[in-house]
Amino acid sequence: MQKSVAQAGAELAHFIEQHPKLWVITGAGVSTDSGIPDYRDASGQWKRSPPVQHGEFMASQQVRKRYWARALVGFKALREAQPSGAHKALAALEAMGFIELLVTQNVDRLHQRAGSRRVIDLHGRADLVKCMSCDYQMMRHAMHSEMARMNPAFAAMDASHAPDGDADLEADFSAFRVFDCPRCGGILKPDVVYYGDVVPPPRRLAAEVGLKNAQAVLAVGTSLMVFSGYRFCREAHAMGLPIGSLSLGVTRADALLTHQWRAPLTPVLTHAVEQLAALHRTLDTQELPSSQNRQGASRSSGSA
Ligand SMILES: [Zn+2]
Repeated sequence: MQKSVAQAGAELAHFIEQHPKLWVITGAGVSTDSGIPDYRDASGQWKRSPPVQHGEFMASQQVRKRYWARALVGFKALREAQPSGAHKALAALEAMGFIELLVTQNVDRLHQRAGSRRVIDLHGRADLVKCMSCDYQMMRHAMHSEMARMNPAFAAMDASHAPDGDADLEADFSAFRVFDCPRCGGILKPDVVYYGDVVPPPRRLAAEVGLKNAQAVLAVGTSLMVFSGYRFCREAHAMGLPIGSLSLGVTRADALLTHQWRAPLTPVLTHAVEQLAALHRTLDTQELPSSQNRQGASRSSGSA
């Protein structure tokens, strides 16, 4: 059942106040308000063909031609997207000191562009490409410029945008010329963890360290269907941490949740931020003795 924005926002603000060191995990729902399409519907099911798998991308030149020809059309949507109200509200929560770590499953870098700093891009970033043979890295827009020059007919095509910088373009891709690693001629791939690929262990460990320092988990706009994200909720549950979820649909972790708000993200987060900001203003303007009492009270209850 969906809750009203005001009710969900007030409950979320209370949750944050009670657990002011949050470990946040975000997913595609945060970026749909930025115009980036999602793969799954509210019930967590695929609403379109699943994305390309790591193994098939590496094994087949035909798959790579199709991938890059479609990306030449679809990546513009990712590159031009602007942070949503949800990204901005989460950046505001960090600025207010409530976020221990934000782990995103999105590859669009919109959290950073909204001003968040304590961010781990769990599944990598779509604006970088990396050579699978020699680790050479380059910015994706530079690679796209090269491929647009090499493939003027494909660069002029248009199609509706799909998730992850893909486009719904069907054509004969056999003539497409892929730009290979300028250093060794190897296969360039977006610096993104594909299905069938693994999250680099140092990145996963950094996320786990953040979880150990947190007081609660807040999942925002994610169905948690992908195991690399879901696993953290299982760990948090095993640690006895409260787990809240704000999303429109069901999540794989529903059975582990202690708090669930099925409501639109941007208005609820914005409402919660405004409520917390108002509370802080009130506390800041109180006289010093009562403020000291408050801190003393929270310290003694913390050590009890
Ligand atoms: Zn190379």
